[in-house]
This record gives sequence, structure tokens and C-alpha cells, in this order.
Amino acid sequence: MNDEVDGYFYHPLDNIEDTEIFETAIDRKVFSHRLSPERPYTYWTLELYDQDNGIRGGGGLGVLAADTRRVAEQVDVPFVLITPFYPSETHQKWEDGKIVDEHTPVDYSAFGFNFVDNVYIKCCGNLCKLDVIEKKFESTRILAVTEPNFGELYSGLSGSDHRLYQEVSLGFGGYQALKLLGVKPAIMQLNEVATFFAALVRLDELASNGMDFYEAVVYTRKHTLYTNHTLVQAAEAEFSYEQFERFVFPNLKSKAVRKWLHDKFIDGKIKLSSVTIEIAELRSGVSKLHARVANYHDIAGERVKFKAITNGIDMRKWVLPEIMKFYHDDEILDEFDIPTSTFSEKLKALSSDEILSFKEIGRAILNKTLSNRPDQNGEILQFNPTDLIFDFKRRFVDYKRPNLPFKDPVRLRAVLEPYNAHYILTGRVHTGDERMATILSEVLETVSKDDYLNSHVHYIADYDEKLAYALSVGSNVAINVPIVGLEACGTSWEKDVANLNLLISTHDGGVADGSMNSYLNVYGANEDEEREELYRRMEEAASAWQNGFDLEVLIQKQLQEFLPVISGTRMLNDYLNYLLPE
Ligand SMILES: *Cc1c(COP(=O)(O)O)cnc(C)c1O
Repeated sequence: MNDEVDGYFYHPLDNIEDTEIFETAIDRKVFSHRLSPERPYTYWTLELYDQDNGIRGGGGLGVLAADTRRVAEQVDVPFVLITPFYPSETHQKWEDGKIVDEHTPVDYSAFGFNFVDNVYIKCCGNLCKLDVIEKKFESTRILAVTEPNFGELYSGLSGSDHRLYQEVSLGFGGYQALKLLGVKPAIMQLNEVATFFAALVRLDELASNGMDFYEAVVYTRKHTLYTNHTLVQAAEAEFSYEQFERFVFPNLKSKAVRKWLHDKFIDGKIKLSSVTIEIAELRSGVSKLHARVANYHDIAGERVKFKAITNGIDMRKWVLPEIMKFYHDDEILDEFDIPTSTFSEKLKALSSDEILSFKEIGRAILNKTLSNRPDQNGEILQFNPTDLIFDFKRRFVDYKRPNLPFKDPVRLRAVLEPYNAHYILTGRVHTGDERMATILSEVLETVSKDDYLNSHVHYIADYDEKLAYALSVGSNVAINVPIVGLEACGTSWEKDVANLNLLISTHDGGVADGSMNSYLNVYGANEDEEREELYRRMEEAASAWQNGFDLEVLIQKQLQEFLPVISGTRMLNDYLNYLLPE
């Protein structure tokens, strides 16, 4: 990262932009006049995390896609989500001191998908047959392409033939699938550059059906939104011209489009971001900080501007129903789950007794979920309502620092023991990430050497939606300590805040949409300082759970700052206002 970006991050961001206040309810007129079942909002994603519908993703990108569709359903937006259906998925278990992957087949018909028809794409001189399957809801649907050898999500390297095949299948196959249904996209949202091919097919369709090429470019650009989740363009994998000759060019009908694409290669290589930027006039980042610092350049070398639309969550999925009822009954959220104009004032009525009673309900859900998920020692955990639980639940990747609290086990024990507190650690290690698999083994080795930690720090394997929900509703304190500058948004902290957990976090991603003193902020000039601050914040949080007044103040402050950010309907409203301005 360059100095300019560094300097930016360590500057307190609190006053740079005022937090927006979302007073208006969703404007239904926008939906009925600009979008229709035949001309819907289309959302393209290689990853969907929606276990109720049989699709397990890898992390936040997929959860966001599922939440966006559910929120569209809730407010009657005509919306089609187009994604691959992967016929196999990975589960993980802890065995003999290490993490082990297991692959299980998934059958789409068990999840209410119907077969629609076949479509064909050209790959390596062959015609590849894809199944189009569909699951219909009220105003939304999931449209998926699949075939028996489609492989798993993120199988292979990101610049590999197989990945290109999956991406081309989604774009070319998915576009044909829409045609089968008689649907034309009013707008196309590209969830990351892997979905670029969908916009390319549209351009090709327009240009090969008689529209002037430049008009077709203008038209496609105007209706395409590229949503970026990655900070640095340099990290992106490249494809070669030769790979495109096998997988992409044969599927294009328009000579002009082929020529356009041909000219985008530099030294025989292409980065999908460079062409996605050209084909999408609308571009968004997933938090205010991320949109400001994402370092992307177009082909002319100009820095790309991203509109900040911070990720929200589908509150009806992720928040304890009893807490949602309280938000609605007390006029904190309106009927669309958007904070009311008086929500901040109304939150002052939230008492510590209520917080504790909600936690008791959530704790029972956590116990139920844990009843068949042993920890690293094979123990089945069951907690009392009064037990204090810290949790860290997120993908095991370097920048999220799952091992930060374990670097000083003596100090960690000194934090936990006075409160007889537990620490639950969960998160998937990306298949093939030997480095993080080793770090996890080392953390648990450290834990096993201390009798207190061994009985109070629990690793639960195979992190998924269910565990994410159970911990959000059932634990007390959430720990989120990405290296500042590397988290695009993050949404698990939103699940925690909405479910009345205390949040300990570095000032990064969507958390940096709010002010630094609205949650238990971890700040330090270096990692040692940050770790020490983390322990102090853990002590502060533990003490607050024993003191009703402190707890009320801290929880109210978090909600006052973050409820407008967390609301998924607010997010969808922001997207609609950006895509379809009045
Ligand atoms: C919410 C959620 C995520 C998102 O995690 P972040 O680290 O906050 O981006 C990932 N995986 C699952 C299973 C989730 O439920």
C-alpha cells in the first residue's frame, strides 16, 4: 500500500463525512414504475451463501448476495439473482490436531429448485451443456446454471481454466437462462469482477442485433453497476489471451465486440477489473472507507471513483425475532426495517434487564446449535445464561488476525479468568491455505498448554450461517480486529451490534462508517499496542456485562450509531437510488 493510503487510515475519520440519516421509507413508486417482473433488477454473483436454499458460500460476499435478494423480496422489488449451483461443497472438521476438508454432494432438487431447460456455451472447441434451474419466490427468484462437473466454489486457482469456465458459464449461460424466462435485465449489478461476462454478453447481444457498437457500449454502461469488494487491483489474477481464445471469443457474435475485447489485452494478459470498469458506468464500494481508498485505475490510468454503499444485512434473518419485535413495537425501525426519525431517542428506553432477557433467549439458541458441534477437545458445550462469552467468528485469513489474542496467553488468561469467561473461536480456513491451517493448529496448541484456557477457549469447526446466527444472538462480546485498511466492510459485526452484543473492533471497513467512540475501539500504533488495547477492551466489556448502567450506555450508543448502517433495506434503497435516480 502506498503512503497516501496509509496516512489516510491512521487519520481519525469521524468528521470527514456526516453519517447519513435515513428518514424516508422505501419509495414504492420507484419499484412499480421502473422495474417489473419482465424487466427486473438482476444481480450476478459467483458466490451465494444461502443454506436454506441449498447453496453454501465461502463468506461475506455470498452472505451479502443472499441478504440483498431476501431484502428485495421483503419490499416487493422484482429481482433475479443469477449464480452457479455448485454440485459439491466443502465441510471442515477438527481431527488429530488439524483441520480436515470433507466434500459432500448437493442435490438442487432437495431445495425446491426446478429444472428449466438446457443452454449451451462453447469451450475449447466443444459445446458444453448447462442445466438451468430456478427457484421462484414472490417478487424474486434465484436462477442458477450448473452441470455435474461444475466443481466447487473457488476450486482451482483464480486465474485457472476451471475458474474461467465457471465465470463464462455464469455470464453466457446465465444470460441465455434469462432469455428462456422471457426476462430482460433493467439493471445489472455485478458482484465483483468475476461476473464481468454477464455484461459482456449483453453488449454482444445489442451489438449483434443491429445497434451501433458505440451506442451499445453507452447503453450497457448506463445500466451496469460494478460492486467492488477488493482493495487493491494489483492482487487480482489475470487471464491469458490463449485462455480467452478457448473460453470467451467463440461465444461472442459481434465482430466489433471481439475487436473491443481483443484490444484490452496488455502483453497477452487481461485483468477483469480493467474491462469491468469500462463496461460499467456505475461503480460502488461496500463501505465509506473502502469506497474512498479502493485503489483502482482505468485503462487510461485514471483513478476510479466508487460510490459508497455500505453493506447492510437482512435483519429479519439475522436478528433474534424478539429483538426485532422490540425494534418495531418501540418505533425504532419502521415497517421496512429502516430506522425511524426518532429511533435514537427511542433507544434510550432499552434497559439492561431487557438486554439480559434477550440474551437469555439467544443463549438457548446457541446451546441448541452447539449441541451437535463439539469443540477441539470433543466437548459438547452448554452455557448458562450468566456465563460471559467472547467470540471471534470469521474466515481464517491473515488480515482478520484470528490469532491476535493468543499471542500473549498469560495475559489472555488474566483477562478471562476473573470473570470465568469463555472464548469461542470459529471460522473456515480456505481450502489449500496451509499457512492459516498451521496458524490455527498453533493457536490451539498454545491453548492446550494452559489448563484454564484449555477448558475456556473453544474452537468450533465448519463455521457456517447457523453458527454465525447462534453466536450473534447468544454470545456477549464480539471481537473484530482486521488490520486497519484491509477490511472492505465486514457484516458479522453488524449481526452482533443488532443483537445487542458489545463490539470490540479496529476502525476499519463498515465499522469506520461510524465514529470511533461509538463502540469499543482498538487502536494502536503497532500490533503490540493494538493487542494490549484489545485485552483492555475485553476487560472493559466483561465489566460492563456486570454493571447494568454501563451496559445500557454502551449498547445504546452502538445502536444509535450503527442501526442506519446495518439496515439491509436501507442498503437496497441506496442501490435503487443510485441505479434508478428520479
Ligand atoms: C456474516 C457471515 C460472514 C461475513 O463475515 P465478515 O467477516 O464480517 O465479512 C461470513 N460467513 C458467514 C457464515 C456469515 O454468516
